[in-house]
Amino acid sequence: MLQKICPWCGKPVALMQVKKKPLKERYRWYELSQTVKVCPHCGEVVTLSSKWSNWMFAFMLPLFSIVWIDFLFGVALFDIPFVEAVCWFLVLVGIGGFYMFTKFEKP
Ligand SMILES: [Zn+2]
Repeated sequence: MLQKICPWCGKPVALMQVKKKPLKERYRWYELSQTVKVCPHCGEVVTLSSKWSNWMFAFMLPLFSIVWIDFLFGVALFDIPFVEAVCWFLVLVGIGGFYMFTKFEKP
């Protein structure tokens, strides 16, 4: 499932094969980079479906909240046994799910 199908030419594209080029338009706040992904076969711009990247962030939320609670209130929740392990597990599940289920879409 690491191979995604290009929505333009229908050829399988591994995430590693995707080429990048600089973004001409302004980038949206949730995009981490100012580059766009380009299919290596047909050169068309593809995006990863945002539906799945959103739930990847949901899995990362516990880790971020705990870091923020520690920062804001000085409550070190990581001292509770297994809390840190569970948080990292959720992050891994989120990233794994992202790689498994995201699809390329036309922008
Ligand atoms: Zn293509």
